Amino acid sequence: MDDLEQLFSNNKAWAERMTREDPEFFSRLTHQQSPQYLWVGCADSRVPANEIVGLLPGELFVHRNVANIVVHTDLNSISVIQFAVDVLKVRHVIVCGHYGCGGVLAALRDDRLGLVDNWLRHVQDVRDKHRDEIRALHSIDDRHDRLCELNVIEQVLNVSQTTVVRDAWARGQSVTVNGLIYGLEDGLLQDLGIHISGVDDIPDAWKNSRAFRSGEHDATSSWPDSTAVVDPY
Ligand code: ZN
Repeated sequence: MDDLEQLFSNNKAWAERMTREDPEFFSRLTHQQSPQYLWVGCADSRVPANEIVGLLPGELFVHRNVANIVVHTDLNSISVIQFAVDVLKVRHVIVCGHYGCGGVLAALRDDRLGLVDNWLRHVQDVRDKHRDEIRALHSIDDRHDRLCELNVIEQVLNVSQTTVVRDAWARGQSVTVNGLIYGLEDGLLQDLGIHISGVDDIPDAWKNSRAFRSGEHDATSSWPDSTAVVDPY
């Protein structure tokens, strides 16, 4: 219980500070939230969404899971996206990965961690789809960094292919799906150069994407071969 006491004490101090700085803050939030952004990030405790982009409660709608994955059969993430797009009418969906992601590393190395391996299989699908590019990198660190980047890009494409986002575009609603990556070492976000605002942006999305940690990546290479044969690493 002592551990929790610290949280209650921190919470009280935080609520008092917020009220001191803006006496109407909590009463305003009671009535509505109107975030402009939906953040889909990793559950990693070192990547606190609101904090790293300097946004207050009410300004960022957040979904986090291990390795920031969006799959079409996951009712949890898809429901969050649906509520954010259809009801809250966010202008941006941000998929934010991070370098040093333990989930991505486990997927890269075929580590066996338990139930979570089944979830991380989705990252292994990304790994296998981009097998040649990842293998061309020489160190495990470079491969890890690049898979963190590729995973974000693939999840951005997954978000863009949901019925929720496609229907929003079809009715003329403005929503852009973006891919960012966060550095644990310096606390800085990088723009992966993928911003999709409509179905027409999807085919060129890869071409415009950028790599930061692995200089060997050729961003102008062709669309990855999705039929690549799976080969264990
Ligand atoms: Zn992570």
